[in-house]
Amino acid sequence: MAAAVPIGIRSAGPDWALRRDFARLLVVAVVLPALILCAVLAWYQSASQRRDAATQLRSVAEITKRDFDETLRVHGAVTSVLASRRSGENSLGDRARWSGDLRRLRDQFPAFAQMRVLDAQGRIVAADPADRASIAPGPCFDAAQRQDAPAVSDVYRTAPGTPPLACVAAPLHANGRFAGIVEGAMRVENSGQRIAWLRMHGYEAVLVDRKGQVAYASSGLPLSPMDDIDDVPAGAGLRAVAPSTGDEAEWSLAQGVLHDDEDAYAIAMPLESGWRLLVLMPKAILDAQLLRTIGTMVGLLIGVAAGVLGIAWWQMRRLSTSVHRLLVQMQRFALEHASAPISKDSMPQELAPLADAMNQLSDRMADAYRATSRSLEEQRRLRASLEQVVDAREREIAQRTAELRNVVAELDRLSRTDALTGCLNYRGFREVANQLWHDTHSKGGMLSALALDIDHFKSYNDRYGHPRGDNALKRFAGAVRSALYHREDVIVRPGGEEFIVFLPDTTLEQAMRVAERICASVLHADIAHAGSPIGVLTVSIGVATNLPEDGDDPEVMLARADAALYRAKHAGRNRVAL
Ligand code: GH3
Ligand code: MG
Ligand code: MG
Repeated sequence: MAAAVPIGIRSAGPDWALRRDFARLLVVAVVLPALILCAVLAWYQSASQRRDAATQLRSVAEITKRDFDETLRVHGAVTSVLASRRSGENSLGDRARWSGDLRRLRDQFPAFAQMRVLDAQGRIVAADPADRASIAPGPCFDAAQRQDAPAVSDVYRTAPGTPPLACVAAPLHANGRFAGIVEGAMRVENSGQRIAWLRMHGYEAVLVDRKGQVAYASSGLPLSPMDDIDDVPAGAGLRAVAPSTGDEAEWSLAQGVLHDDEDAYAIAMPLESGWRLLVLMPKAILDAQLLRTIGTMVGLLIGVAAGVLGIAWWQMRRLSTSVHRLLVQMQRFALEHASAPISKDSMPQELAPLADAMNQLSDRMADAYRATSRSLEEQRRLRASLEQVVDAREREIAQRTAELRNVVAELDRLSRTDALTGCLNYRGFREVANQLWHDTHSKGGMLSALALDIDHFKSYNDRYGHPRGDNALKRFAGAVRSALYHREDVIVRPGGEEFIVFLPDTTLEQAMRVAERICASVLHADIAHAGSPIGVLTVSIGVATNLPEDGDDPEVMLARADAALYRAKHAGRNRVAL
């Protein structure tokens, strides 16, 4: 059975995990599309912002242009009205009246820095303020005289270091002839209402007159009034935006036109006076807007991704908590074989069937476990009783085997024993003869043999009958046995009325004495035999002892004993012979 995994310890398992796969899926299905969507949105947003910026720049530029045109037109018109009102008079000499007119106009139109009246020769008739009356005729005089119509000058300075001016002028006529001009000099930076507004909103503006001179440049530009736009480093960028043809251009990127060579988006507008207005939006402003947009998008994306991942993580955590509860239940069941059923209230709907199945499985396994336990207990009992039976049988078999062995041994002994006398029979004789011979030779000792033959036994049988003959044989054997003192001595009856006695460790002399003792014992048995010369049963004995030259076979020694017996018979019986 597989070893149970302790609760809380992870076993080696497959190398994929739901949580990791789910996280990858989230990244692929949510985060990546969100990233792409965010990038697309950011791209659209940036394009839209650029379009808006372009539209805004154009609108601002148009309004500013209109403002400039309007200002010049109004101030030019005012000058023209005054000039036409006073034209036709014969003399321009009423200085006091001119001065009063000029003062009133300046009061009403404060953009005029100075107003003057010049005669046909360019001499100053009147000026307001009067302290600047000494200056020479300005650039408007020639234009107004030449055109004989209201004119707007290019930018100019009355003296080095003074603010740049531009003037509007209208011709005076007397008697149908050019009689002089009414001129209003305006400070350029004050002439547009929108300049301050532009600066406030981060825009830069440049006014270039017909000669290409800078009439006004906001502080963000490396330009000074009266700079020739062809001579300044930033001029190249500005000329690219505002071609000298004066046509209205599309917005474009003007490179290196701001301080520190920064770029700006710019649009050029031609004014009615022939001047050009350039409105610039620093590229950094649009870039900052784009950066804010992208930052907002990225923040939104991170927020959405974090929210999605957080919810996913929370759901996965709830799922894994439920799965862990199931796992703990299973492990508890594996370790303890029984556990309380899982509460379905603690499971989400999706896992409730699994909890049900586990509870059922748990019940079924508990039943199976009880049945198996009972069956095992039964088997144990059966096995114990079987073992008892087998033990009893084995003991019985061992006892029977021992008995059989005894019987076999007894049979074996009987097979080697003469039933009449209890001596060894012929079979026992062969075995014992070989055994004693072998033992004697291996030890290098002595072995003597006595060959016995009862005297005149045929006549005993004849006289007393065979049964009594058998009885005499029994008594004879007893007499022989009683004459032997050593346990090792062996009596054998190979057949008939002939016996052999083996005497281990016995010399020839000792054997002779044993043979004499046997003869005496047989006589002493006093077995009556009327056919015997002395009236009792006697025996003749031949004695032999083993010799070194006898070799491996006891037969030679036994043959010598037989020969000695023969000699004892021949010598008269009832005796011992060598
Ligand atoms: P000897 O003195 O020369 O030995 O004469 P003997 O008569 O003993 O010798 P013989 O060999 O002629 O006779 C032996 C007799 O022994 C013959 C037989 O009747 C008798 N005999 C042999 N075996 C048995 C036996 O088992 N029982 C009885 N009752 N007689 C036996
Ligand atoms: Mg015989
Ligand atoms: Mg005999």
